[in-house]
Amino acid sequence: MTTNAELFERGLRVIPGGVNSPVRAFRSVGGTPYFVARAEGAHVWDVEGRRLVDLVQSYGASILGHADPRVVAAVRDAAGRGSTYGAPTEGEVLLAEALTGRYPGLEQVRLVSSGTEAAMSALRLARGVTGRATAVKFAGNYHGHSDALLAAAGSGVAEGVIGTEVVPDSAGVTAGAVADTVVLPYNVVPTLDDSVAVVCVEPVAANMGLVPPEPGFLEGLRAECDRVGALLLFDEVITGCRLAAGGATERFGVRPDVWCFGKVIGGGLPVGAFGASAEVMAELAPTGPVYQAGTLSGNPLATAAGLTVLRALDAAAYEQLETTATALATGLRLAFDAAGVEAVVPRCGPLVGLFFGTASPVDFDGAVRSVAAGRYPAFFHGMLERGVALAPGPYEVMFPSLAHTDADLELVVGAAHEVAAVLAAGG
Ligand SMILES: *Cc1c(COP(=O)(O)O)cnc(C)c1O
Repeated sequence: MTTNAELFERGLRVIPGGVNSPVRAFRSVGGTPYFVARAEGAHVWDVEGRRLVDLVQSYGASILGHADPRVVAAVRDAAGRGSTYGAPTEGEVLLAEALTGRYPGLEQVRLVSSGTEAAMSALRLARGVTGRATAVKFAGNYHGHSDALLAAAGSGVAEGVIGTEVVPDSAGVTAGAVADTVVLPYNVVPTLDDSVAVVCVEPVAANMGLVPPEPGFLEGLRAECDRVGALLLFDEVITGCRLAAGGATERFGVRPDVWCFGKVIGGGLPVGAFGASAEVMAELAPTGPVYQAGTLSGNPLATAAGLTVLRALDAAAYEQLETTATALATGLRLAFDAAGVEAVVPRCGPLVGLFFGTASPVDFDGAVRSVAAGRYPAFFHGMLERGVALAPGPYEVMFPSLAHTDADLELVVGAAHEVAAVLAAGG
């Protein structure tokens, strides 16, 4: 039998760090990553045959649960008709219609292959449309790994950051590439000026742990953007079609000018999208001067999977997601309380976070302080040993899916009680 350790060792020889995305490497929690052999519903099985209740769900790309039979059938069917043509397809029109139908004000979208591409292209579009250079982003918000947005970013990037003053975050990103990026604290409405092209925000921050917007924050951004003629961009790569049919936009009732999507809308295949009004989107090639392209954009397998997922997400599905997330958050909080471990379990709709400490952070500094307490690795490994897969990094959130059952939650909460007791005993 192949073991996780063997595969990791071989991977380390031919893949940097043995992984194709940094947080998978267990760098911030220590140890050897599990290599997934297969997954179904709420569970993944590693190559050693061990079953885990999976709260990673590909960082939110899988909302129905793994290998949903409807998605599998749609992808199989699409693959049989050819996987990419270099010509437009009906699936692209259908997915674009599904998105625009869910988001009032979103009149057109351009499909791409990742959230990174969506944010990178949306930023270029915003700068092209306004003729302005400055992009405002918030510390701890992650918008993918394009150069201009890789400043005080959350997610895996956050692990190398001590404060929020580190700009840029990565070697190889020049000072010039982030010279027009301004990083500000989350949940504080800034005063803008007319150099600002776009204000990029995660309407619910989910890459520095879970940090919901304070009342008035999103409304304040809307008003400031209107005052100076800047575009407001909601990065709904996580929240899109997850917090509600119309994502954070619907849930908070604030309408941005530009949206980014990814994860959920691809049903586990590589898809991203960005969109805006028809007037703004007309500035994009081929109709306008802002160039953007992609060989595999709107890929038929991906659009088939994404459409299948969006069709399954009816009102009952959102209700179920919220019920599951509430049960998970409540169960975890009770586990920490019972053991006397100081921890908070914030929830926003179907998203659940976890911070060790006494108060829920409202910004990146707060999140960094909580992580600095250093309790997450032990919690993570304790849960993993008991059959629960959490993200191997303290700045991620939990993604309960439609496939998680009461029995799955019982297993998770039971494990949390045991691990919290171990933590309380100083383990
Ligand atoms: C994951 C994520 C991205 C990047 O998407 P990729 O598909 O990983 O490139 C961008 N923005 C947010 C908010 C994300 O969570």
